[in-house]
Amino acid sequence: RAPRIRKPDWIRVKAPTSTGFAETRALMRRLNLATVCEEAACPNIGECWTKKHATVMILGDVCTRACAFCNVKTGMPRAVDPKEPQHVADAAAEMGLQHIVITSVDRDDLPDGGASQFVKVIEALRRTTPSTTIEILTPDFRNKHEAAVEAIVAARPDVYNHNLETVPRLYPTIRPGARYYASLRLLEQVKRLDPTIFTKSGIMLGLGEERLEVHQVMDDMRSADVDFLTMGQYLQPTPRHAKVAEFVTPQAFNAYAAIARAKGFLLVASSPLTRSSYHAGEDFERLRAA
Ligand code: SF4
Ligand code: SF4
Repeated sequence: RAPRIRKPDWIRVKAPTSTGFAETRALMRRLNLATVCEEAACPNIGECWTKKHATVMILGDVCTRACAFCNVKTGMPRAVDPKEPQHVADAAAEMGLQHIVITSVDRDDLPDGGASQFVKVIEALRRTTPSTTIEILTPDFRNKHEAAVEAIVAARPDVYNHNLETVPRLYPTIRPGARYYASLRLLEQVKRLDPTIFTKSGIMLGLGEERLEVHQVMDDMRSADVDFLTMGQYLQPTPRHAKVAEFVTPQAFNAYAAIARAKGFLLVASSPLTRSSYHAGEDFERLRAA
């Protein structure tokens, strides 16, 4: 068996010990909310939760898919919690969030893929904390995406994010349940339905992609009018998951960022520890203030 590559020095994260961290955790437990920060074993949890930034994961913590890079549990999910939309809104209000990121597991078992729960969450947030800007990060809704995206776009989130995750060549091994061009069409559809919604997507680097393949993904995103791009280092959550093929250097992340900006993305976040929700609020506020 090939040895695992050692983590380089630039992947260093602080242990989560702050009061802010403990408070964020207590609030999530009290409102019975799952977070992608915990479920995906995100390396930024210490920093983000200290600053009271958390990405809520709606529709439960069990996914109907099993992507090779993802730490979320796979299986038969539980019934949808009707109290969840208000709990999300209460959490946003209690934390005083200016910007909230909401994501979900894939719910291929539900007739609408979970789209109506996204809509209810957006509506509850607008009612409870109207000044909070809303970013949603949705699954691909498989063959139901036309109707699902229509419903969610009509609820008018501020940012609609859907990650392409990796280059198309690696889909069969890394994202086997998904289709690259279906995800791209989803992003295109959001923009077509409502050009005032910012669209966002991201990929992980270090899975074995080539530089020119990354450039091609950027071009594909721009051709779908995607506004924001995130790129971060893939980290293997457990030995059962896909191996890290390479640790991409911070300099290479900067070079990708420069190319992405030249291709016309409005916001680019590219560094080893970038995740799709990392600093999402700060970046979005900066853009709006500009
Ligand atoms: Fe959570 Fe996103 Fe921060 Fe990770 S980067 S801890 S997922 S808010
Ligand atoms: Fe993880 Fe999303 Fe894949 Fe489910 S669909 S396994 S939550 S990346």
